Amino acid sequence: MKDCIFCKIAGHEIPKEFSYEDMDVMAFPDINPISSVHILIIPKEHIKDFMDFRNSSVLEKVKDVIQKIVKEQKLEDRGYRIVVNGGGAQVIDHLHFHLIGPLGKAVPME
Ligand code: AMP
Ligand code: ZN
Repeated sequence: MKDCIFCKIAGHEIPKEFSYEDMDVMAFPDINPISSVHILIIPKEHIKDFMDFRNSSVLEKVKDVIQKIVKEQKLEDRGYRIVVNGGGAQVIDHLHFHLIGPLGKAVPME
């Protein structure tokens, strides 16, 4: 989609060092990390929001890529969080998954 930064990265219009790339999925470090590991895993197709995510084979691929990066980053037992902002909470309207770690246990609300 025109004027979408993640589409431009997917189309190699903007150079980016990928952590992972195939035909359908790409991953690269967040430009503004909130932890030592903060990687975005992104379907290349322009999907506006999680509620528009219908392609189950791409969903499966996203799962595989996240699992691969969790292992590569040795986060399996160091704590991690997978975050999808949606419904207007997102800044970029191209579906992406944040993988963030290492992290301690989330503290439950009182
Ligand atoms: P969200 O609020 O879920 O839409 O998050 C968008 C994320 O994309 C933010 O954490 C930004 O720091 C990140 N971001 C924006 N532009 C880039 C870029 N060119 N390369 C890497 N990360 C980016
Ligand atoms: Zn896009």
